[in-house]
Amino acid sequence: MKYAIQTKGMVKEFGGVRAIDKLSISLSKGKITGIIGPNGSGKTTLTNVLTGFHQMDGGTIVINGETEHGRLRSREVLELGITRTFQGVRLFEQLSVLDNVLVVVTKRSVWGALFERHQKFHYDQAKEVLERVGLWNKQGAKAAELSYGQRKLLEIARTLATKADIVLFDEPYAGLFPEMVKMVSGIMTELREEGKTIILIEHDMALIRQLCDRVVVMDAGKLLAEGTPHEVLADKRVIEAYLGA
Ligand code: ADP
Ligand code: MG
Repeated sequence: MKYAIQTKGMVKEFGGVRAIDKLSISLSKGKITGIIGPNGSGKTTLTNVLTGFHQMDGGTIVINGETEHGRLRSREVLELGITRTFQGVRLFEQLSVLDNVLVVVTKRSVWGALFERHQKFHYDQAKEVLERVGLWNKQGAKAAELSYGQRKLLEIARTLATKADIVLFDEPYAGLFPEMVKMVSGIMTELREEGKTIILIEHDMALIRQLCDRVVVMDAGKLLAEGTPHEVLADKRVIEAYLGA
């Protein structure tokens, strides 16, 4: 099967506002698909619907070419192997860096995971993902003590720890220093090599060109264009939507 996620006529409204307006897109399996579009075009809302944070008002979602879902609940989303990062980072602030990852690795509730005696297996897994994002030397620090960039890296570590096959990154690069940008890009391409499906919401077109196999352009909740980065970024309609020309 070719697509990890397909949306068919997806609609999401807030009050009278259509944040997602009959959106039909297909996200290729094992590829990095960029989602771009002006602020307010519905990118984060799409992520929220695809991960069960919001329920759709219309349309369906097909995961891995299988069942057509009229709605997705958070628990189902995890079982389907989908995970995401948040545009505004969400961590357990008072827990250590290591515990923030262990909570995910052990798949328990926060309290269950904390009171469990961690097996070496869990610890090793947490260590591996923290090393991957360069935070192993911070393992004992509280999440609240980290810098902004480190917090974003910790959130990425938490998504890696889920071992999900489909990962949605909502502006993971925003506010990162160049060396952190490099690290995150390395993680993206490694995940693709592992066969994972990556959805990357990003405003930096140089990063989109560099990383993405496909790009979906949203405007006012609708699909504006779809194609390779080269095709899409040369599209007059896309340039107009961004520059308001
Ligand atoms: P993007 O991520 O592309 O900047 P969003 O998905 O955040 O766009 O927002 C799309 C539209 O939906 C905007 O008009 C925004 O104000 C609205 N919106 C998003 N989330 C909510 C919400 N929880 N309640 C009300 N309106 C929302
Ligand atoms: Mg957003």
